[in-house]
Amino acid sequence: MASTRKKQLECDVLFEHQDLLALTLAHPHPRKQPQSRTLADGTLLTLIDTGILAIEPAEPGDSDIVLSCAVHGNETAPIELVNELVNAIIDGSLICRQRLLVQLGNTQAMVNGTRGVAENMNRLFSGAHAEGEPNDEKRRAALLEQTVREFFKEPGRKRFHYDLHTAIRDSQREKFAVYPYRPGRPWSIEQIRFLAGCGVQTILLSHNPTTTYSYFSSNEFGADAFTVELGKVFPFGQNDMSRFASCKAQLARLIAAEALDYPPLSKSVVFDVCQVVNKHHEDFQFTFADDQANFTEFAPGHLLANDGELEVRVGEVAESIIFPNANVAIGQRALLTVVPTEIDERFE
Ligand SMILES: [Zn+2]
Repeated sequence: MASTRKKQLECDVLFEHQDLLALTLAHPHPRKQPQSRTLADGTLLTLIDTGILAIEPAEPGDSDIVLSCAVHGNETAPIELVNELVNAIIDGSLICRQRLLVQLGNTQAMVNGTRGVAENMNRLFSGAHAEGEPNDEKRRAALLEQTVREFFKEPGRKRFHYDLHTAIRDSQREKFAVYPYRPGRPWSIEQIRFLAGCGVQTILLSHNPTTTYSYFSSNEFGADAFTVELGKVFPFGQNDMSRFASCKAQLARLIAAEALDYPPLSKSVVFDVCQVVNKHHEDFQFTFADDQANFTEFAPGHLLANDGELEVRVGEVAESIIFPNANVAIGQRALLTVVPTEIDERFE
């Protein structure tokens, strides 16, 4: 009886105090069962588990949209952005006209204010969570995958997944998105323009399978999916939300099935991922400073890192560095490099 009452109180925090983030921070641990509430306009809200909320209009449009954030728990700006959208739906100021699944990914890391707890959750998808010793992050990644699988179950609908992040380091291009490898499918110009309308004007084309969340939705469900980097990490409450205004407005238009902002493509810049550098030795060192900004360009032949006896060098054209991290586990990615490319016949 007492536990039923407690669950009801938790539910009330969401539906009456209207704050998914506050509820999730107060109750980050797995819930025993889903809870639902219907809004006045017939929209069904289902709190599937902690930080996982499905929003289903009575007569949805043609799209199934997943918005995820906090796969890295300390990347607070996307969490606040997504929370503002959800709370606007709950209080009726934003009308949701598409099926929407919102996920706050790594809830325990959010509470701790850390990127992860035991590991990097964005290397645990496409079944990677099933390898090695189980832990809370692997169980959570499996749950996130399972709810996406359920959410995308109806064939023939448009599928989108925007996995929102902020980066640890400065970037010469503040906002950018990684477009997962999609063999046999052209890169979508419409999606690149959609992201430009979010203020994301740099796109990195990935050419290899990986264990990121966006690759999972792209590869297994044919979704238009992206890892979206929106700026730099700051603690809760210290984000300048004006820097995310165009992204929030574009996502609100998508959710509300309103006309989207498609800026001219000339402002977007597309890069090919060139090298994916995995760490092979404990003795791994970059030749550049720890805080070197993303998109710093290095000349052909430049020595980027020493990996034990191995040398990692720039190839025959200049390459720019993305996500350097010498402290990853052996076998994990320590660096990407990218080179500028053109919108060509690979796009449609
Ligand atoms: Zn991240």
